[in-house]
Amino acid sequence: MGFISGKVMLEHAYENQYGVGAFSAHNAETIMAIIEAAEEMNAPIMIQVGQKVIQTIGMEPMKQLIDYYAKEVQVPVAIHLDHSRSLEQTSRAIQLGFQSVMFDGSALEFDENSRIMRIVSETAKSLGIGSEGEIGKIGGTEDDITVDEKDALITSVEEAVAFVEATDVDYLAISIGTAHGIYKATPNLRLDRLDEISKAVRRPIVLHGGSDVPDEQVQRAIELGVAKINVDTELRQAFTRGVQEYWAENPEGIVIADSLGAGKNKMKEKVKEKIRAFGSEGKAASFAKKENIVMI
Ligand SMILES: [Zn+2]
Repeated sequence: MGFISGKVMLEHAYENQYGVGAFSAHNAETIMAIIEAAEEMNAPIMIQVGQKVIQTIGMEPMKQLIDYYAKEVQVPVAIHLDHSRSLEQTSRAIQLGFQSVMFDGSALEFDENSRIMRIVSETAKSLGIGSEGEIGKIGGTEDDITVDEKDALITSVEEAVAFVEATDVDYLAISIGTAHGIYKATPNLRLDRLDEISKAVRRPIVLHGGSDVPDEQVQRAIELGVAKINVDTELRQAFTRGVQEYWAENPEGIVIADSLGAGKNKMKEKVKEKIRAFGSEGKAASFAKKENIVMI
């Protein structure tokens, strides 16, 4: 199997009512944690490259690292650009061979968000990869950009429909009460609104801020049309905890492979837990039987 179009991957999940975990990678160890977990669970996955890692390591080095570690995997993998806020960056990712890209114009006016998204969506379609757009603002802090909770508006059905009609985006991120980062109180998803939007736009919905949302709520959201769940915070917490535990036991430990290795193991367990909760365990097998997979 190996790399496939994000669009093909998410349509399969959408039709078969399970969720694909879109897990953020930050270095070689986190890439390995995600890939090993996916292989052991026989699950299709997305590996996300976000803004923070682009600022520090760079987009191309990250893409090459993921390419290297994922080249012989047996499960379907799509490398996804997360929260790009410019057409230039999105285009660069397409040029580099990402199988899925997000343009996040949610901070822009509707017309400008739609105009740029339309270009991204058409380019992605012509290359057979997937595109994600966002309508409505998701609260919290991601990659140093903070959206005030009072600004985190619940997406309306009307704006979601208008955005999809204007852009023909492949999958849609909406705001239904999740937030990026750490929650102050257990989130309560607006599943009623998700249901209305999902029925109106009839395409996979993306849930951002998937960390710490109770499994039952995520599972209900998947039944209602969510096919991609972004998880980053919980994975970073697991990784950090693993490293901290290692140093608590080995205060003089300077073998970085060991300390980061301990982080990797903890994160891998968390990825497996998410794959189980999203219902994508074992789903890689049904891809192998499909003949119309686009290989990129
Ligand atoms: Zn997000």
